[in-house]
Amino acid sequence: MKRPPEIQINQFQLALLLKDEQKKFFEMVIADNVFCSQCGGSTKEGITINEMFLTDLNDILVKGTCNTCNGKVARMMEFGEDKDFYNKAMDFRNSIRN
Ligand SMILES: [Zn+2]
Repeated sequence: MKRPPEIQINQFQLALLLKDEQKKFFEMVIADNVFCSQCGGSTKEGITINEMFLTDLNDILVKGTCNTCNGKVARMMEFGEDKDFYNKAMDFRNSIRN
């Protein structure tokens, strides 16, 4: 099966894709479960999101900066393993195709 391309998404589009419990999970990860190599561990004060992507596997990739040291961080969230999310993501891709 051909994989769809990685596309950039915004906060509004992310909100449409995630169910309530997935939103909570997302917020929780952003708040204190992103690894920062400069801090040498999980970010203590969370991160500021700069960019978000829907990957070729329909996972969410977040790129941002650590609120403690300002270092660059990235975190993959494997929502694509959730079949509902995967299907929703494919519908979303179709809806923005043109
Ligand atoms: Zn840091």
